Amino acid sequence: MKAPAKSSASSSRVASTRTPSSASPASPAAASPRRSESEGGGIFSLLAQHEHEQVSCWYEPSSGYRGLIAIHNTTLGPALGGTRFWNYPSDREALIDALRLSRGMTYKAAVAGLNLGGGKSVILGDNKTTWREAIFRAHGRHIESLGGRYITAEDVGTGPADMELIRAETEHVTGLMGKSGDPSPVTAYGVYRGIKACAKHRYGSDSLSGKTVTVQGCGHVGYFLCKLLFQEGATLIVTDIDPLRVKAVVQDFRATAVAPDHIYRQQADIFAPCALGAVINDDTLKQLRVDIIAGGANNQLAEDRHGVLVEEQGMVYAPDYVINGGGLINVNAELHGWSLERARNKAGEIYDTILRVFEIAKEEKIPSYQAADRLAQHRIAAIAKVRQNFV
Ligand code: NAD
Repeated sequence: MKAPAKSSASSSRVASTRTPSSASPASPAAASPRRSESEGGGIFSLLAQHEHEQVSCWYEPSSGYRGLIAIHNTTLGPALGGTRFWNYPSDREALIDALRLSRGMTYKAAVAGLNLGGGKSVILGDNKTTWREAIFRAHGRHIESLGGRYITAEDVGTGPADMELIRAETEHVTGLMGKSGDPSPVTAYGVYRGIKACAKHRYGSDSLSGKTVTVQGCGHVGYFLCKLLFQEGATLIVTDIDPLRVKAVVQDFRATAVAPDHIYRQQADIFAPCALGAVINDDTLKQLRVDIIAGGANNQLAEDRHGVLVEEQGMVYAPDYVINGGGLINVNAELHGWSLERARNKAGEIYDTILRVFEIAKEEKIPSYQAADRLAQHRIAAIAKVRQNFV
């Protein structure tokens, strides 16, 4: 029998902020979290601003667990998104982060063609703590209390062992040990297919043979991406702050290594950011002279306006959350018991999605990052309509 929560659990649905036409959620670009922060306002105005469905807050005094779960939109299915464990300067910043990240997950799942909504949770505190069991089991109970509306996974500050602790309290968790495993090969394959789509769009042929690609970050995604590019006959120029990771790619794929701050000014056809966010900014745009920017890193645009500037400078930009959707596809594969091959095939569809994004951009005369949002909104609105009948 389940013990009643000792916490002050509160689950605040704000259905009043949603209307049938609002099944198409406000885009991340349309209303930035920075605006919410500066405007102040209470919790419901924060929720209403981006049409979030729900935020749940749970406190467990015995372990000190303090967790928030934000659910942005569940039109397509249960909200999925990782658990971030972070020492936020304030509760408000934690809430804003959860709201912002959950909204991003809605869009990512929608364009990946998955039947998942967008959610994210944050645990407030020191993620180095060794007292993890009570905290993560409390989090598991918090997730369980939502009855399957939210499914969690790993994120910054959490790992597979933490997911096992959550699993003791709820089934609504992925990324377990011995299950889908490292998502990076699937992510890298999706990025590779996305780069090919960009080449098709830019050059009329998707062959990467003879193209020079600069790769920033030779970590999990970067390494597997380099392998696929090398196999297709691309020339690689790479960088990483970790010399061992650079060495592996130089040895295995005949790449040329350059210093981290020299990567932007290399003569190349394609730049693939696979390390940090905000790498498309005022400074790097002065240096980049490539035809295509397409890589696995999250949040590549420092600000939305850089998504406009990049195109004004004649470069094709593959929106990050479209091209790196393979990681989420891998998690979805675990949920539904898909084989690795099926997950890989689904990630391969990123090729067509990227081309569709460019089509929308052309039709609507908007930058590609906005076209990606439009694609996500179209799908969510269409499925909301299909599901409105009583059956
Ligand atoms: P990772 O930590 O394995 O690799 C990142 C690499 O970037 C590391 O080798 C690191 O040393 C390097 N790096 C850090 N700062 C750098 C700098 N200034 N210059 C050059 N290199 C630098 O991470 P990953 O799993 O390969 O993920 C890479 C990016 O892709 C991240 O932005 C991540 O959020 C995103 N992403 C990853 C996945 C996935 O499946 N792993 C899925 C979606 C998105």
